[in-house]
Amino acid sequence: MVEIKSMSREELAAFLKELGEPKFREKQVFQWLHRGVESFDEMTNLSKSLREKLKENCVLTVPKVARKQISKMDGTVKYLWELSDGNCVESVVMRYKHGNTICVSSEVGCLMGCAFCASTLAGLVRRLTAAEILDQVIFAQKDSGLPINNIVMMGIGEPLDNFDNVLRFLQLVNDPDGLNIGMRHISLSTCGLVDKIDRLAELDLQLTLSVSLHAPDDETRCRLMPVNKAVGVDKLMQTCRNYFKKTGRRISYEYAMVDGVNDSDAQADLLVKLLKGQPGHVNLIPLNNVEESPLKPSRRVREFQNRLERQGVTATVRRKLGDDIDAACGQLRRKEMKKNEAVKPAQRRPNR
Ligand code: SAH
Repeated sequence: MVEIKSMSREELAAFLKELGEPKFREKQVFQWLHRGVESFDEMTNLSKSLREKLKENCVLTVPKVARKQISKMDGTVKYLWELSDGNCVESVVMRYKHGNTICVSSEVGCLMGCAFCASTLAGLVRRLTAAEILDQVIFAQKDSGLPINNIVMMGIGEPLDNFDNVLRFLQLVNDPDGLNIGMRHISLSTCGLVDKIDRLAELDLQLTLSVSLHAPDDETRCRLMPVNKAVGVDKLMQTCRNYFKKTGRRISYEYAMVDGVNDSDAQADLLVKLLKGQPGHVNLIPLNNVEESPLKPSRRVREFQNRLERQGVTATVRRKLGDDIDAACGQLRRKEMKKNEAVKPAQRRPNR
């Protein structure tokens, strides 16, 4: 059995040819898949025999809505999807004046261990297939009735840790016969896996790369992000400069503001030094409280922003959406996991 929605167009064409189908079938099947059919029988312009062959040979992924929450404050919609193997991931649809943006997950859990992040608390369970990432967009759009204009890969998981499937996803979601979402409408956020950033640079995609920096010095960054122990801030910044050189795309640096940890004036000044002379932009994120973490939100976000701006670094503060529905960083999955753990502790997964 093959997962048909993860296939590239070339692979799909080759697969259908092998089944003895004429060339024009490929586009028909591709379009149905990306419209979010829930069974092969819905592909009504295909021959009955082809539909039977597809049923026999292919898996059609259809995530179930395990939970759905809609913010009364701003209309943000949050989905907890149950995948075919029972694992869950989240997506969030945010409504802005310039269109709707979906935040998608790339993995079930995460290996990276960032101190402030709920997604990583129980480690990585598995990586998502391209179809499973794509399904979040297809089915959120179908279920909510909100046309999706923009995608941010800022949900659960580290997208560059799932490089090949993420790339496949980007190509599929970009296809004019599918969802047709332009690369310039896609952001990919990474904790800073430098080898993978280099690989991405080679591909010269027009997406926006967001780098989770969160601290301008190795000591603080190591405390917040274990990934920094392997590759420090200097090497990361060098990789980012190279990325810009190769792609001409400005990098957006994410900086979650943690009380008393990374929000001092000295750290703002250090950040300015780090970014001097390179076109970039800092996105300050008010820390979302994670129950299990002692880290608290900074009370100096505006001051920090002003200090950066005064020294010529553009900095915005991320607007909080969906605050009333835990619309952040793996918190819904976490709650669901806790509930299940309480019911059936024997099935708890070991760490990593
Ligand atoms: N693995 C990717 C995507 C993660 S989520 C990455 O590390 O970039 C997207 C952003 O949310 C990252 O910048 C991440 O560091 C940040 N984030 C995670 N938990 C957070 C929290 N509790 N409060 C604020 N930002 C958080």
